[in-house]
Amino acid sequence: MVGGNAIRGTRIGAAGPSSESERGETAPRSVVSYWCANGHESRLSFALDAEIPNEWDCPKCGLPGGQDVQNPPSSGRTEPFKSHLEYVKERRSDEEGEALLEEALEKLRQRRGRA
Ligand SMILES: [Zn+2]
Repeated sequence: MVGGNAIRGTRIGAAGPSSESERGETAPRSVVSYWCANGHESRLSFALDAEIPNEWDCPKCGLPGGQDVQNPPSSGRTEPFKSHLEYVKERRSDEEGEALLEEALEKLRQRRGRA
């Protein structure tokens, strides 16, 4: 019954040099994607001078998400459901289509029960 990672503390002081991103690009913000262990992508935009957190809680399932899609900060268990469909979903990167897919996935999961 180990609680896992304790990320409740605020991490201040991670110096993020944003000088690279402010070359006068058209986008005034930096967009960061976070993936949770369930394969949900959360795309967030931060002001350039804002501190970008390493992890972000998934708004869909509440699991912590990381910036590495291959290595999300899983909460301990591996979700076997991530498969071909996840990649298709990622390639579309259409937010509405993604939402629809998420709904379908949720229904599927509910039908299957929690394995
Ligand atoms: Zn999630």
